[in-house]
Amino acid sequence: MEGATTENSVAAMAACYERFDPETFLQKFCSAEEIHLDREDGITRWKLARLHGAFTEGDMRGERLLDVGSGPTLYQVMSACEVFNQVILTDFLEANRRELRLWLQNEGGSKMNWTPFLQHVCKLEGRRPSEWTDKATKLRQVVTDVLPIDVHRPHPLGPDAPGSLPFALADCVTSCFCLEGASPDLGAFNRALIHIVSLLRPGGHLLLMGTLGETYYLAGPGAMIPVVALSEAKICSALKESGCSLIRLEVFQRPSYESKEHNDSEATFFLKARKN
Ligand code: SAH
Repeated sequence: MEGATTENSVAAMAACYERFDPETFLQKFCSAEEIHLDREDGITRWKLARLHGAFTEGDMRGERLLDVGSGPTLYQVMSACEVFNQVILTDFLEANRRELRLWLQNEGGSKMNWTPFLQHVCKLEGRRPSEWTDKATKLRQVVTDVLPIDVHRPHPLGPDAPGSLPFALADCVTSCFCLEGASPDLGAFNRALIHIVSLLRPGGHLLLMGTLGETYYLAGPGAMIPVVALSEAKICSALKESGCSLIRLEVFQRPSYESKEHNDSEATFFLKARKN
């Protein structure tokens, strides 16, 4: 019975995502007016600094990085593109994959301006902000694919996807703000984590970023997406079940100045783990 219930609720989650609007999402979560990149104590700087740190500790090696549930965003691979030669982006929605391709093809179709993010990551890397164009070029070079994915399938990329098991496992899997917003309950979240870890080679790294205590976020007109409210304990237990060992879990408490208009998260977490 439990399996049947979960299948229905997974379908209900997929239905919620039909209203996901990439443009609104980017406006709410990535536009210059909303991200407070100028604030030293702001969430965006924290996210970019965690990712930068994770990729520059000298333990990340390999060819191929897979980002799960990329959405219409690219900030999460701006440090990664300097370390991995091949970056594969993925999302459940064609609308998000289209937005990513528009930016990657650089033919003027994307409305998203990633320049402030690229400049900031250059600064983190000790480069001049003006070198952001080199980073944009690099990103466009290393992202080789934008693939469909469903984290609720045991083979999230599909059994016939290029690079699917057993041909080429990823050396690193990243996923930001995806699993808790794609899963109807904690059981589905735990299983989704197992599914995405199956795409990672033993010894490879998992980087996960997401929300704690969040119950919804707004992703378009009338698109209120329910979220599994996570805690540090729930994440650690899911991680163990997935066959990964935690290296580090960091938490950023939501600053009081941040509006709760678009989501009700209590905090953001970032973890680095290694597959056993
Ligand atoms: N990673 C981006 C986007 C997060 S929004 C960021 O950090 O901002 C959550 C994303 O999860 C959306 O792009 C949505 O399309 C995707 N998603 C929803 N259901 C999914 C599923 N079943 N499998 C994979 N991705 C899913």
